[in-house]
Amino acid sequence: MKTRIVTAALPFVNNVPHLGHLAGSHLPADIFSRYSRLKGHNVLFIGGTDENGTATEFAAQQKGITPKELCDHFYEVHKKLYSDFLISYDNFSRTSREIHHKIVQEFFLDLYNNKCITEKIIKIPYCNSCKKGLADRYITGTCPKCGYDKANGDQCESCGSVLDPIELVTPFCSVCKTKDIVFKDTKHLFLDLRNLTKDIEYWIDNNPHLRPQVKALAKGWITQGIKERCITRDLTWGIKIPISGYEDKVFYVWFDNVIGYVSGTAELIGEDNAKKLWQNKETETYYFVGKDNIPFHTIFWPGQIIGQKKLVLPQNVVGLQYLNFEKQKFSKSKGVGIFLDKAINSGIPIEYWRFYLTYILPETKDSEFMIDEFFDRINKDLIGNYGNFVNRVLNFIYTKRQGKVPEIKEKDANFEKQILESIDKIEKHYDACDFRYALYELLKLSDLGNKYLNEKEPWKTEDTNSLAYGFEIIRLLSIYFSPILPESSKKISSFLNTNNQNIEIDTKEKKINKPEILFRKLEDTEKEKLM
Ligand code: ZN
Ligand code: ZN
Repeated sequence: MKTRIVTAALPFVNNVPHLGHLAGSHLPADIFSRYSRLKGHNVLFIGGTDENGTATEFAAQQKGITPKELCDHFYEVHKKLYSDFLISYDNFSRTSREIHHKIVQEFFLDLYNNKCITEKIIKIPYCNSCKKGLADRYITGTCPKCGYDKANGDQCESCGSVLDPIELVTPFCSVCKTKDIVFKDTKHLFLDLRNLTKDIEYWIDNNPHLRPQVKALAKGWITQGIKERCITRDLTWGIKIPISGYEDKVFYVWFDNVIGYVSGTAELIGEDNAKKLWQNKETETYYFVGKDNIPFHTIFWPGQIIGQKKLVLPQNVVGLQYLNFEKQKFSKSKGVGIFLDKAINSGIPIEYWRFYLTYILPETKDSEFMIDEFFDRINKDLIGNYGNFVNRVLNFIYTKRQGKVPEIKEKDANFEKQILESIDKIEKHYDACDFRYALYELLKLSDLGNKYLNEKEPWKTEDTNSLAYGFEIIRLLSIYFSPILPESSKKISSFLNTNNQNIEIDTKEKKINKPEILFRKLEDTEKEKLM
């Protein structure tokens, strides 16, 4: 049994999350956490909201409220929505909390004492009209890498490139839209990982778990050469710098965001216990992050850890690609996509969303959420295949055989072998964080059960053996579906009247409880609610 710390990238709290956010980190992290608990590992599933920095300050300014008011509001919104989607966080924390500030400052001082921090004078954009320094999102311009014309000063949303404001082509002030911007000399602190490049590269090369896409992206950064990266910002909303000369600055969010996993653990189990876990080489840490977050978790975070010389390096950084909506990017302003509040208000059962999102998780490439396909997959695969199999077997046993499942007398060795091979594949896919394939294999196993019963026709032939096998497949399906569909799995095990979690086929006699219909069909009229 391992101790696994599972994390999902900490979202900014300036808006309501959409299905792409769910599929890009929270849902896969939840599936992995639930699977790890199922296998008996000691799991700490840590998340939270990223509340510091310009994104927050900027959004608050746009709404005419304070950053704290904005964060207090959206923290509750995020927390409730993830919980509504059955994301089983053990702690969902906030980077505005005192414990986070303290742990970030300690982490910084370790890096500072280990000579990983340097000081430089850089040119910072200043808006002559707003009379204000323009950090990150306060400055917009054309991306020098891909030509997208609304790239932020810190990152291009379109191609994912991490940027410096000075690189932007034709920059303008995001607040007043003026191009009257000057660059002024200012003193800032930098994380200098240049001497650690070899160590970071060694970690990338020797990590057997990173997906090829993630590894390639990380190696691309190494090849380009890792530059010093600024970790301070001219802002008031954020974490204070614990050395003199920096009283009017705070940490740049990318630097403190990732340390949120550590402070979130400390908040849950206490600082000393968290230290012990994070500093134990046996602890496995899994990070589920979207595409734009991959460099921060495969280059900078391992670099921060190597430089600090205390914490365990990532076991796996599960980098996901983007989920699009009907072939377009999700966008609040353009009204593209389904946001989580709308999904909840639609009345479509939560597990349907989880099922379809798992089916299309952007694990190896960008994927598309299509409403027609969503309805098809639910009605044909979830209900037509899985739900139907469970219902027909359990209903027949309950109504025609007084709920009695007979003992398996004639062992069907070939069929049992097929079942166990399927379970083996499902486990391997879960272990490798390939949840789409785990789901496809689960549907194949359900299909196998359906076909077996069609062939044996127990309703005609009184072949009770095949019913007993049907019971066992349903039991195994409910166990292995539980990371994706936790509530229906719970229901099924109450129908089955058993807590048996063994993989081996149980040949003994059993008695089931009255089954109920598991899933209701989606009607075409419900599509309107999603438009
Ligand atoms: Zn301005
Ligand atoms: Zn770009």
